[in-house]
Amino acid sequence: MTPRPAPRRCATCGRELEAREVYYRFHLVLQGEQDLVDPAPDDDEGESLEALVERLARAPEDPRELEEQVHWERSGVVCGACRAVVVRTLTPPVEGAGPH
Ligand SMILES: [Zn+2]
Repeated sequence: MTPRPAPRRCATCGRELEAREVYYRFHLVLQGEQDLVDPAPDDDEGESLEALVERLARAPEDPRELEEQVHWERSGVVCGACRAVVVRTLTPPVEGAGPH
């Protein structure tokens, strides 16, 4: 009898994965980038990334929250059902293409 390994949990739905179940390892990085910086910094419509980083470097009220807006990183495993959701979310719809 082999000892049972520690149970894995799906990072998305939190379900405990069966030992025989196929799971999918992921590593996701959301890195804030901006191609054009708004020349008017006092425009309230949206903070430029540059301003955000600058604010972070100065006196951040909530450094963690601000930091996550610039760089957010997670890794773990997901179950098959959640994998399908993630893949669908990150796949742009192709017009006129049926399921193949
Ligand atoms: Zn799941």
